[in-house]
Amino acid sequence: MKKSLILAATLIFTAMTAFAQNNDGRIPAKGFAVYEEKGHFKPYEFTRHAVGDHDIQIEILYAGICHSDLHHVFADWGAEEYPMVPGHEIAGRVVAVGKDVTRFKVGDYAGIGCMIGSCRHCDACEQDLEQYCEEGAIMTYHGIDRYNDNEHTQGGYSNTYVVAEDFAIKVPDNADITKVAPLLCAGITSYSPIMQAGVKKGDKVGVAGFGGLGHMGVQYAVSLGAEVTMFDITEEKREDALRMGAVRYVNVNNPEDMKGLDKTFDFILSTIPAKYEPVMYLKMLKLDGQLGIVGLPAFRNMPTLSVAELVMPGARRKVFGSQIGGIKETQEMLDYSVANNIYPEVEIIKAGGAEIDKAYQNVLDGKVKFRYVIDMKTMK
Ligand SMILES: [Zn+2]
Ligand SMILES: [Zn+2]
Repeated sequence: MKKSLILAATLIFTAMTAFAQNNDGRIPAKGFAVYEEKGHFKPYEFTRHAVGDHDIQIEILYAGICHSDLHHVFADWGAEEYPMVPGHEIAGRVVAVGKDVTRFKVGDYAGIGCMIGSCRHCDACEQDLEQYCEEGAIMTYHGIDRYNDNEHTQGGYSNTYVVAEDFAIKVPDNADITKVAPLLCAGITSYSPIMQAGVKKGDKVGVAGFGGLGHMGVQYAVSLGAEVTMFDITEEKREDALRMGAVRYVNVNNPEDMKGLDKTFDFILSTIPAKYEPVMYLKMLKLDGQLGIVGLPAFRNMPTLSVAELVMPGARRKVFGSQIGGIKETQEMLDYSVANNIYPEVEIIKAGGAEIDKAYQNVLDGKVKFRYVIDMKTMK
């Protein structure tokens, strides 16, 4: 009893001292931003809005580096605003709660994924699919927070975040907090389409693209009892695929590996973030097989699919796209992952501009296995 009181007192004291408020109630924050397209990461000081009645404030412990962050920094998906603090894979600890907050208390672990708000009343929001909000989901960074004075949102490569409790994810105490952050984007983005496709025991599943998303996809599909084949363009990851439970690894540049795959899969998940030929995977689907697409390459490299390939080959096939997951499903994914010990393989780096720049280069060069996570506590 005494011990927990001391702990609570320490946490409250930490909350009060670590994150002071400005006169206008805003909370000073610091992190790493790029100041221009393709820029380098440099320290950046900014503020977060005050903790509202339904908000929680999180001290960020770990932030994952998602391939999308690179697309934003490189303006691959259109113009961006700078300075930009990327990061939508956030794991931390609650340091303050608004007076009407019911799901969190100070000291709890909490996570934030790709979005921090939505209208809450459109058809999509009513179905717990806030990512498809008809008025637009508010992104964790490079977003405009219309419920907080239209402030420009800044992401997780920083020390703190203030978020509505409804858009925060509860992280169980027994979770491996060093590895939780990438679940909030890479995890849910691969989990959701696997669930949408109804993957079940004995299904033949392919996962194309063995990066941050793909290495989560293989783990979820294997956990459901599917027979998983991993596709990538290199020999280097062959052992990793088998270690993660895949029954086969296909190097698509190796013609031998590619033999005998036509019409063999129930479901293929494409996580590929670069130019590729979707028809190649379509041909591998059985009758009524499904291709779920989550990888989004740069606009200049966007793959296309001819309708002829859907109608003519004599095998009814379905193609669908999927974007992250709603908050309810993200919570399900997180609980499922922790309960089944499914985590990303992470390399933890220090919070520094040069370190983040180097990690970006390694992601571009395909040298990451499988997710970089920034230890935000090491920020000076
Ligand atoms: Zn992401
Ligand atoms: Zn909505």
